[in-house]
Parts: sequence; structure tokens; C-alpha cells
Amino acid sequence: MSVESPTLVRDDVHVVDDERFGPESVALVTGAASGIGRATAVALAVNGLTVAALDVDREGLAETAAVAEEMGAPGDIHPVEADLTDDEAVIAAVEAAAELGDLRYVANVAGLQHVAPIEEFPMDVYDTMQAVMVRAPTLIAKHALPHIREAGSGAVGNMASVHGHYVTADKVAYNVAKFGIRGLTQSIAAEGDGDVRSFSVSTGYVKTPLVVDQIPDTAAERGISEREVVEDVMLGQSRATEMMEPVDVANLFVLGFSELGSHLNGGDLRFDDGMTLTYE
Ligand code: NAD
Repeated sequence: MSVESPTLVRDDVHVVDDERFGPESVALVTGAASGIGRATAVALAVNGLTVAALDVDREGLAETAAVAEEMGAPGDIHPVEADLTDDEAVIAAVEAAAELGDLRYVANVAGLQHVAPIEEFPMDVYDTMQAVMVRAPTLIAKHALPHIREAGSGAVGNMASVHGHYVTADKVAYNVAKFGIRGLTQSIAAEGDGDVRSFSVSTGYVKTPLVVDQIPDTAAERGISEREVVEDVMLGQSRATEMMEPVDVANLFVLGFSELGSHLNGGDLRFDDGMTLTYE
């Protein structure tokens, strides 16, 4: 058997009846050209929001917009090509999102991984990872908060990970970044006066192209089946036999942004199938 990237289906998107979920409300979603960011952009468009979809990958963004359109999503997706390591581009992207209507929601999803021991970790890669996963979300908050306050209320959702709770070896930059994004989340909650809420989302492995594509190689390397890679390696610490799909994570952003999340402020949605809280 092989594990495939799941297809995004409209029926899997959770739709919340929320008076703010209309075309006048704008959500800025980073990392929107792929995986969890794409699913989040599409899910918010299905919920009727206008979405500013940010990524460096122009073709991926076009595909995200096409997926939403094919689904007949009521909200529009506007691609915003920008590199999150470029301050000017980040600030311009926030202003472009605010031009589309009332900027109320931000989903910081973009991220990248690099595996190497601390003694060998390339510091330029470390800097890029902190820039994309911690600095850019902070800069986005700096420029988006005034718009959200002007709109009256809203929320910033940040993609963390189980690596924002416990860590594995050889992922120092990722571990530090994911602990950092939880600090940013709580800082926004501290300064948001209840009008600008903030939350983070922490999951274990999710069936994104990035994860699915490494399954055959890992199986070959270890001499085990692809199913064993999923069940023993990726889900070994969790109490599940199936990985989460990007849309499952997207639905957590929908929940956090909606009035269902109105008392969620500074908190972390840790949906990890028990990965960090149980052991056998
Ligand atoms: P992905 O590689 O499918 O998507 C990441 C996106 O970020 C890509 O479209 C990429 O172009 C974009 N990006 C990277 N650098 C950028 C930059 N400088 N400027 C603009 N965009 C940039 O990854 P994914 O698996 O969907 O992961 C998304 C987020 O979820 C990441 O923060 C990741 O750490 C987190 N996460 C993923 C998993 C998982 O198992 N896939 C689990 C927990 C947390």
C-alpha cells in the first residue's frame, strides 16, 4: 500500500454560522501555496471570508485559488506573492490584505524544516527559519493589530507543533521557533485587550505533500513497509493509526477565528492524538 496526499473536499470543511464570516472580513493566511496553509485558505473561503493568500510560491497560490473556485467557495482568494524574510514585502502584504476589506484574522502557517545536530547546524539556515516562523509573524502582528482593532475584533492564529511542547533531536531551529511562536501567541493575547485574540495550533504529523513524499524513502531506508512508517515511525508516540489531514488542521483555525473560539485567548489547540501526553 501507499499513503497518498488527501484531496481537499468541500464537505470536509467545517462551516460555522458566524456573523463576521462574510466577504467584508479579510483573513491573511501565510504558507497558503501548500499543505496546511492551502487547506486553511480554502476552508476560510468556504466559510465566506475574503482571503489574502500569502506565499513565495506563485504557482502554488494560483492552484490554491483554483481549488477554492472549483469548490464554489463563497469567499474569494487573492494571491499575495511575498517572501517572509523580506520586511518590506511583509509590510506591503499586510497593507494589501487590509485593502481588501476589514482585516480581522491572520493565520501564520508558513514554515520549513532542517534536520542537523546542533554542532553542525548551519546558522544561515537557522536565521531563515527564525525569520519565517517567528520574526515574520511578529512583524505581521505589529502591522495587522491596528487594522484588527479598527475592525473592532479579530484573532491571530499561529501554527505551532508538538515541537512547541517537547522536542526531538537534530531539529534545534524548528524546536526553538515553535516554542517562540507560542510566546508570540501569548504576547498578542496579553496586549489584545480581549478584542484581538490569539491562539496557537499544535499537531503531530499531518498528511501534507512534504510528509507523504518522505514515506517511501523512509520505508526503503529502514527496510519496512510504508504502512509501518506511518504507524510505527510517524504515529509511534500517538494513540492514532491515521495521520491528521490538512483540512483537519484548517478546521481548527476556523474554530479559533469563529465565535466558538471567543474564550480562546493565548491558548494552544493541541490536537496530537495524545502524542505528547501519553506513553506506552
Ligand atoms: P508545506 O511545506 O506544505 O508548506 C509550507 C509553505 O510555506 C510553502 O508553501 C512554502 O512556500 C511557504 N514558505 C516557506 N518559506 C517561505 C517564505 N520565506 N516566504 C513565504 N512563504 C514561505 O508545509 P506544511 O506541512 O503545510 O506545514 C505548514 C506549517 O505547519 C509549518 O509551520 C509547519 O511547521 C507546521 N506543521 C506541520 C506539520 C506536518 O506534519 N506537516 C506538523 C506540525 C506543524
